[in-house]
Amino acid sequence: MKQLLSFINLINNSRRPLFFTGAGISTESGIPDFRGPSGFWKTNTPIYFKDFISSESARRDSWQRNINLSKKLSKVKPNDGHLALKDIMERNKKSYLITQNVDNLHQDSGVPEKKITELHGNSTYANCLSCYKKYSLKIVHEPFVKKGLIIPCDNCGGLLKTATISFGQPMPEEEMEIALLKAAKADLFVVIGSSLAVYPAAGLPKIAQESGSKLVILNAEPTELDSIFDLVVHQKIGIFLKKVAKNI
Ligand code: NAD
Repeated sequence: MKQLLSFINLINNSRRPLFFTGAGISTESGIPDFRGPSGFWKTNTPIYFKDFISSESARRDSWQRNINLSKKLSKVKPNDGHLALKDIMERNKKSYLITQNVDNLHQDSGVPEKKITELHGNSTYANCLSCYKKYSLKIVHEPFVKKGLIIPCDNCGGLLKTATISFGQPMPEEEMEIALLKAAKADLFVVIGSSLAVYPAAGLPKIAQESGSKLVILNAEPTELDSIFDLVVHQKIGIFLKKVAKNI
């Protein structure tokens, strides 16, 4: 109860809250997280960016995985946590969201595109790696499923890849710049469902703190960085954020 009141108090008194979400906010929608107890990478080895570029067989593996993932994602919906966060963000015009997630569920919950920066891309569409032309997944999936073909970009002949950032792939420059700027300007930085194990994203709370922001983390398990936070809440996201949204 005390933690709930403190959380609400910090949000109500913030002029520029910045929310930072990770895979933990989507587990209640049925998408496994990364490093939690039933984490995705405990059963799937990652495909590195350099292998995607250099090996046709890695590209085949990658597209096959994306086809499987897309089937799952087409059925998932935003959960109580996503919906409550959308409500909380609506109360403050200057609120902003940085996410490490690639599942598009924040957009699906109703958070406007202009209030979201995705640090690790989005798995619901594809891009050309050379000219950045955007493609719907259907256009790439169909020839792969029907004829085993991986189509090239029809504009420049480049390689098409889902719009996610793979292991070993450079972070997107513009998104990183926005994240750093927002972190430096926030007066409240709220981490929701991230183990904060991946840099440079995990460095953002410290940057915010050094610019005078208060730090809050909501996560089921402790993280290595808990000690730098002003408020640490170890609870389930959906139920906790729903209470916050009802009471601010
Ligand atoms: P992570 O898996 O490293 O950490 C998630 C944290 O959330 C864990 O500490 C876990 O204990 C906590 N958690 C899980 N369910 C929770 C719940 N219901 N309530 C409270 N806490 C809960 O995730 P990360 O820090 O985001 O890093 C993982 C990387 O994997 C990111 O780069 C992301 O791009 C990618 N990823 C994304 C998705 C997605 O888009 N949904 C899913 C898996 C992985």
